[in-house]
Amino acid sequence: MGLKLCLLSLPVATLGTPRIGPRRELKFALERFWAGKSGEQDLLTAAAGLRAANWARQRSLGVSVIPSNDFSLYDQVLDTSVMVGAIPAIYGWTGGQVSLATYFAMARGAQGDAHDADCGHAHHQHGSSHGVPAQEMTKWFDTNYHYMVPEFHRDQTFALSSRKPIEEYEEAKGLGYQTRPVLVGPVTFLKLGKSADASFEPLSLLDRLLPVYVEVLRELQQRGAEWVQLDEPILVLDLDDAARDALHRAYAVFAEAVPGLEIMLASYFGALGDNLETALALPVAGLHIDLVRAPEQLSAIASGARRKQVLSLGIIDGRNVWRSNLPALLDGIEPVVASLGKDRVQIAPSCSLLHTPIDLALETDLDADIRSWLAFAIQKMGELATLGRALGGGRESVGDELAASESAAVARQTSPKIHNAGVARRMAAIDEAMRRRHHPFAERAALQRAKFGLPAFPTTTIGSFPQKAEVRAARAAHANGTLSDAQYEQFLKEETARAVRWQEDIGLDVLVHGEFERNDMVQYFGEQLGGFTFTTFGWVQSYGSRYVRPPILFGDVTRPRPMTVGWWRYAQSLTEKPMKAMLTGPVTILNWSFVRDDIPRSEACRQIALAIRDEVNDLEAAGARMIQIDEAALREGLPLRKSDWQAYLDWAVESFRVCSTGVADETQIHTHMCYSEFNQIIDAIAAMDADVISIETSRSKMELLDAFNTYKYPNEIGPGVYDIHSPRVPEVGEMKELLLLARKRLSDDQLWINPDCGLKTRKWEEVRPALVNMVAAARELRAEA
Ligand code: GLN
Ligand code: ZN
Repeated sequence: MGLKLCLLSLPVATLGTPRIGPRRELKFALERFWAGKSGEQDLLTAAAGLRAANWARQRSLGVSVIPSNDFSLYDQVLDTSVMVGAIPAIYGWTGGQVSLATYFAMARGAQGDAHDADCGHAHHQHGSSHGVPAQEMTKWFDTNYHYMVPEFHRDQTFALSSRKPIEEYEEAKGLGYQTRPVLVGPVTFLKLGKSADASFEPLSLLDRLLPVYVEVLRELQQRGAEWVQLDEPILVLDLDDAARDALHRAYAVFAEAVPGLEIMLASYFGALGDNLETALALPVAGLHIDLVRAPEQLSAIASGARRKQVLSLGIIDGRNVWRSNLPALLDGIEPVVASLGKDRVQIAPSCSLLHTPIDLALETDLDADIRSWLAFAIQKMGELATLGRALGGGRESVGDELAASESAAVARQTSPKIHNAGVARRMAAIDEAMRRRHHPFAERAALQRAKFGLPAFPTTTIGSFPQKAEVRAARAAHANGTLSDAQYEQFLKEETARAVRWQEDIGLDVLVHGEFERNDMVQYFGEQLGGFTFTTFGWVQSYGSRYVRPPILFGDVTRPRPMTVGWWRYAQSLTEKPMKAMLTGPVTILNWSFVRDDIPRSEACRQIALAIRDEVNDLEAAGARMIQIDEAALREGLPLRKSDWQAYLDWAVESFRVCSTGVADETQIHTHMCYSEFNQIIDAIAAMDADVISIETSRSKMELLDAFNTYKYPNEIGPGVYDIHSPRVPEVGEMKELLLLARKRLSDDQLWINPDCGLKTRKWEEVRPALVNMVAAARELRAEA
């Protein structure tokens, strides 16, 4: 019976699975190894165990197209660099198979320093500041996964330098699995890389690169592989002719050099759009498309595909945590399957399941209703299997599963846990007045200057102070009940008071309370807002061994009570200096959470904005006159396609304005962003109309302020003068030099002085002298100005 049903299923693929293990086994194995507490063999054994478990799990759940080489000890793009021998000279590799030591040097730097996990989120270029630096790291498309940026030099050559894809294929085969090995496609690999000296285009290396890919493909085929999956997610980006041409050339070479090996070309994270023709023209046996982000592309692709081409339909969301309404999905794809023929269709998630948590079954603390609306990687595999059987053997063959799926979807749609009439009323009542400060910046600034009486070039910090081991230990003790609420609060008060006193002592002008009570800048707010829930084991890889547990936004957002007012009031009570209140903005909360899929993101964002607006207004009512609303993730939320930018920026900016305009003109709204490449979005930044914006600029020598200069940005700006990603303490002279560069681009009365970002991940021993120097630089500047 089981076997028969199985035969009556369409092929079911995963494209890739989370590699970290349901209980973060990979992280612990890596950290033991890095700490020298286990050997290479222990690490490799642990990794093999995770792979074997992954394969077994997929088979038992009904996945029939099982991937191999989707596993990675650190990152699949780094694996590719190593596979083709794109290893910069500083790592001292001299050919042959790349050792684990070289691999981890590229990943983490040679001194073994872990990346600085600044800001609680990895969105920077990290690397150890001494020894051999790690490779640059950046976001993988619009996910919160970060890959190691391949680096090529002008005379780059390539050679097969890691047999990982072949070894993992063989390993699976030995365990009884015929897998479809996954590789990052050659064009995506080059496009994501950078040239060491910017003197050539990485794509120009294609002809040198392809022979290595051919070697891998041939050997996979010789060892029995029938299909391989080549990931070319760049197909959903704006591409120029050079990139399209590279795709044509690469896949023509493969078709000719490795005939008979079937290639599943995977696109994901969006629509093929204007690359559709290119994708359809490539001589590949199969095409995977993302039908969650871009369901509208199905008919064009179904009719444009060659007669024998297999389509892999990405219909289960690989980027989110929601259970699907399977009968509704079937309504959409049954006609397509009927017209294409069952032998030409595979069922898959929209993208690799790497981006989802692993197992909902572990979440025993979740509200039962909410739980019934969710699906993590394992549950999604189950959904895919059900769809495969419904399409292969008819809906009756999985009647119970379909009924359960539909009833969960209906329950979710109508649940009072999601829908709040009060929120709906407030959303409908957002009007022009709520999107605008009372008066323009120039008038506000005059009032604010008179009120605060700050010196020229006022000094401040971005919010957090070092979260040393004692702070984290106290939080853990409080969480597990060994520290009472009262004891924990007392502890935090002492930390806060110490930080406030110290800021006064060194002469900072605008103080902060230090954020000692916050675990994470998004989680802290999510835990206090209605509409959010949290998981216990819902980890998702952010980079390497760093995983995050994003909050889940499941319903209408409410703010039952003030979230930060108590801490602000306490901190302000300790000083006469202005105490800047500290909030995380709506766009950042949205972008770092799993967001409900039953309303547009823009609407969810506006709901969060209303909640933050209440907090802003309450802070003001309590006496706060400077309120900072961090939008660290605003820029990284930009859509992949340029043509979608404006719509996103419109609602993102509107949300910021909704949360920040309830205050009087004299109240100063600050914002902070952990980057400074504003060239393309400077209009939006200006439209946010924050009185003061602090940005990251120290490493760019203030050049990135040019965008503000050219735009004639009128509001005040604090360009970071202290690189907080490094333990190095900047000298007074260095910071002054940066400030002189800033003064060439901004007027003196616009200029604030602050570090690049929060200081949470630094040590007090580094922070103290650095900020003392920063204040000294400000004083010297004032004396000279
Ligand atoms: N206020 C936060 C802090 O200082 C801002 C962090 C961030 O922008 N990533 O930590
Ligand atoms: Zn920052």
